[in-house]
Amino acid sequence: MFEGLSERLSGIFDALTQRGALNEEDVDIALREVRRALLEADVSLDVVRSFVDKVRNRALGSNVVRSVTPGQMVVKIVNDVMIETLGKTVEPIDLDAAPPVGIMMVGLQGAGKTTTTAKIAKRLTDRFKRKVLMASLDVKRPAAQEQLAVLGKQINVATLPIIAGQTPVQIAQRAEQAARLQGFDVVLLDTAGRTHIDEALMAEMAEIKAASSPHEILLVVDSLTGQDAVNLAKNFDDRVGITGIVLTRIDGDGRGGAALSMRAVTGKPIKLIGTGEKIDALEDFYPDRIANRILGMGDIVSLVEKAAQTIDAEKAEKMAAKLRKGKFDLEDLSDQLAQAEKLGGISGIMGMLPGMGKLKDQLASANIDDKVIKRQRSIILSMTPQERRNPDLIKASRKKRIAAGSGMKVEDVNKLLKQHRQMADLMKAFGGGKMGKMGKMASM
Ligand code: GDP
Repeated sequence: MFEGLSERLSGIFDALTQRGALNEEDVDIALREVRRALLEADVSLDVVRSFVDKVRNRALGSNVVRSVTPGQMVVKIVNDVMIETLGKTVEPIDLDAAPPVGIMMVGLQGAGKTTTTAKIAKRLTDRFKRKVLMASLDVKRPAAQEQLAVLGKQINVATLPIIAGQTPVQIAQRAEQAARLQGFDVVLLDTAGRTHIDEALMAEMAEIKAASSPHEILLVVDSLTGQDAVNLAKNFDDRVGITGIVLTRIDGDGRGGAALSMRAVTGKPIKLIGTGEKIDALEDFYPDRIANRILGMGDIVSLVEKAAQTIDAEKAEKMAAKLRKGKFDLEDLSDQLAQAEKLGGISGIMGMLPGMGKLKDQLASANIDDKVIKRQRSIILSMTPQERRNPDLIKASRKKRIAAGSGMKVEDVNKLLKQHRQMADLMKAFGGGKMGKMGKMASM
C-alpha cells in the first residue's frame, strides 16, 4: 500500500541525503517536491499547506545533530510531522460504557460497511471476549439483512432476528432491548448506505442516532476514493457527528492521500483499517507504522533518534570538564537536576558510582526526590543568570524575590543554596576523575 507516495518521497530524500549542508534554499527545494508528491497522492490542499509549513519551520529552527546529514534530519522531521498529522497514537474502539455498548456504523453503499461490521464483531468476540449482537438497519436493499445474517453465521456471532416491515429506528430499538435482555456486551448497528450523500440519508442517520444514542459512531470510508472520502467524512461529521473512522481497501490504496488528510480535516481519529476482503483483514491504525510505510524510511528515522541521544552525552562531557576545573554553579546544578529527573532520581545515579556513598547519603538526608527536584529547578529558574553563575550575590532581598517568583519560601531558597554549596564542596574534594565518570553515567 501507499507505494506511489512512498516512492516519490524516497526519490526526493535520496537526493537530499547526498547533500552536505542544508540551507533555506535546499529546504525549500525539497519541500516543493514534498508538496508535489503529497498533492499527487491526493492529499487535500489545506493539509498539504499546513504540513509543508510545519516541516519548514521545524527544519529551519532545529539544530542538525552531529553525525547525521541535514537531509536525514529533514526526513526525520517529515516523519514526525506525518505521525502528528495521522494522529500520534493508536485509538481503539471505545467500549468503556455501560453494556450494551452501542456502535453505529455509517457510510456510503459499497464502502465496506457490512463487511467491516462483521470484522469488528469478530475482533470484539475473539480478541476482547465480548458478547456481540449485530443488527442490520438497511430496509432499502432487499438482501442487506440476510447478508449480515449469513456473515454472522460464518463468524459465529449473533444477529438480530429479521422482522419484515420495521423501520430502521424500530430495528435499532429492538436490538438494544434484545441486547439488554439477553446480556450482550456490544450491539453493532449496520445502517443503510446510498450511492451518494443525500438529505434523506442524513435525516435517517440522525434519527437512528437520537433513538439509540450509540457510544461510538464509526464512519466506514473507501480509501480509494481519496479526496471524496475526506469530503464525505467532513459531511458526515458535520451532519451526524462521528467518533471515529474506518478506512477500507487500504490494500488497494497506492496513494495514501485519504489517510493523511482524514484526521487533519475532521479532527476524528482513524481507528481501524480494512486490509482485504477476508473477515480477519482488519488492523489497528498505528500512525507511526503508517508514516513509515508512506515514507519507507524507518532506518533514517531511527538513526537520527540515536544521534539525538548523543547530544545529551556531549552536554554531560562539558559538565564533567567544568567540574574538573572545580566550577559548579547553580546553572550546572539545574542542568544536573534536569538530567537526574530524566534518569529517575539523582540518588539513583549516585548509587551507581563507586565512592559516592557519602554524597548519596547526604542527598538522601536532604530528601532529594523527584518532586523536590522539580521544586528546586523552579527556584533556580527564578534567579537571574548572574545569580546562577554567582550564588554569593544572593542576599536577603534577592532571596525574597526568588522565593516569590517560584512560589516557595525563603527558607526553601536557603536550603537549596546550602545544598548547592555542599555539593560544590564535595565535588571539588572528589576532583576530576570520578566526576568524569559521572558525566558519562548521566548520559546513558
Ligand atoms: P457496504 O455496501 O458498505 O455494506 O459494503 P460491503 O461490506 O458489502 O462491501 C463491498 C465490497 O467491498 C465487498 O466485496 C467486500 O468484500 C469489499 N471490501 C470491504 N472491505 C474491504 C477491504 O478492506 N479491502 C478489500 N480489498 N475489499 C473490501
